[in-house]
Amino acid sequence: MSSTAQKTQNIQQSHLTTQNLSSNDTTALPVKHHQIVIVGGGAAGITVAAQLLKRDRALDVAIIEPSDKHYYQPGWTLVGGGIAPISKFIRDEKAVIPKGATWIQNRVTKLEPDRNIVITQEGEIEYDYLVVCPGIQIDWHLIKGLKEALGKNGVTSNYSKDYAPYTWETIKNFKGGNAIFTHPATPIKCGGAPQKVMYLADDIFKSNKVDATVMFCTAGASMFSVPEYSASLDKVVARRQIVTKFKHNLKEIKADTQEAIFAVTTDSGTEEVSLHYDMIHVAPPMSAPDFIKHSPLAGAGGWVDVDKETLQHTRYANVFALGDASSLPTSKTAAAARKQAPVAVHNLLALIRSKPLSAKYDGYTCCPLITGYNSAIMAEFAYGGKLAPSFPLDPTQERYSMYLAKARVLPWLYWNRMLKGKGFEADILKPINKLVRR
Ligand SMILES: Cc1cc2nc3c(=O)[nH]c(=O)nc-3n(C[C@H](O)[C@H](O)[C@H](O)COP(=O)(O)OP(=O)(O)OC[C@H]3O[C@@H](n4cnc5c(N)ncnc54)[C@H](O)[C@@H]3O)c2cc1C
Repeated sequence: MSSTAQKTQNIQQSHLTTQNLSSNDTTALPVKHHQIVIVGGGAAGITVAAQLLKRDRALDVAIIEPSDKHYYQPGWTLVGGGIAPISKFIRDEKAVIPKGATWIQNRVTKLEPDRNIVITQEGEIEYDYLVVCPGIQIDWHLIKGLKEALGKNGVTSNYSKDYAPYTWETIKNFKGGNAIFTHPATPIKCGGAPQKVMYLADDIFKSNKVDATVMFCTAGASMFSVPEYSASLDKVVARRQIVTKFKHNLKEIKADTQEAIFAVTTDSGTEEVSLHYDMIHVAPPMSAPDFIKHSPLAGAGGWVDVDKETLQHTRYANVFALGDASSLPTSKTAAAARKQAPVAVHNLLALIRSKPLSAKYDGYTCCPLITGYNSAIMAEFAYGGKLAPSFPLDPTQERYSMYLAKARVLPWLYWNRMLKGKGFEADILKPINKLVRR
């Protein structure tokens, strides 16, 4: 018997044992049982739940999500740039929970996949199948002095709903001097967000005739992970006369002296460099949530260890993961989660029905790189940095149409199509693209 078949049989046996137990000894049972438990009701979790229930209304799907609000995080860049108020990107969680799903408003503290159990603050929940998507953890504490400094005296970050409005306050009231924008050494959600806000800020500084030195201090060695898009961004920073400082990893904020301390990697090792700031936008380090890191589901780096094509866990056959918390080696975005969701759903249903796991994820992700108030590069790519444009246009170019897509169309699509489990719009464009490219 293959290991997957063996694991599937274990799942079935474990479920049978529970059913048998329930008629004899209910005290020994976990508090609740659901056929499919989804950990995290964010972009990925709600999309998966909606698609599962669209495919089969009879499924017993529970979503464990502690927050009573749902956030459209890509909108936080627009908030930081004064394009929209934060209220536009917040909805009640109950309004996005798909009809037919059970919402367990709680936080998972521990995963016990050998027992098919998740432990929440209020008890145990047993599952037959588990989908893990609790997002990424923001490690504010890893930058000394940051937590205390945030939200005042020009220290801000769009990576929190609490500070994105302050980013706009800071930008519009900036009186001049050094405006620093950082990018950390860890994987982050939306790899372009640390610099999108910088281009918006630069536009405002110029229109306010403020004498600003804008600096992009990144722990990386280039502007972006995909060379074609990176080359376009090189032109953007050159045109704007933005100072780029590569291999600069922010370590500390000294708020009293307005200094940002970087660990700078050089050919001879690492040296400490202090830069004065008059405002600083910090993209903090991030990692897998601690309860994932410390669980048997974690693989290298602490992420949920899944097959990069099927999204099935590499050791626990009844577990799938997607979104920011997964090990999928692609850029972490809501757009990526959108393309991962149908693969997870297809393969999970195939597993339930004892069919082969035939759906495959190609690593698609998309980062709409806003390069100013009227332009964006729609950076779509798949595994290996392969360009994957949805439109029959050169994707490396800055376009007004792509700015409109980012600022106006994508938020609407998120609330009205993605979270409702509807299909990926660009798939409709595929046949047209093929014809145009001939
Ligand atoms: C400033 C910014 C700009 C961005 N720009 C873009 C963009 O332009 N395009 C794009 O596609 N993406 C963008 N993103 C990234 C995008 O928002 C994420 O990649 C996406 O939300 C990931 O979906 P997810 O479901 O994995 O995680 P999330 O959407 O973060 O959802 C995770 C959910 O899990 C819940 N959770 C956490 N811990 C637990 C627990 N212990 N138990 C139960 N539930 C838990 C959380 O409350 C949350 O609701 C941006 C993000 C930010 C912050």
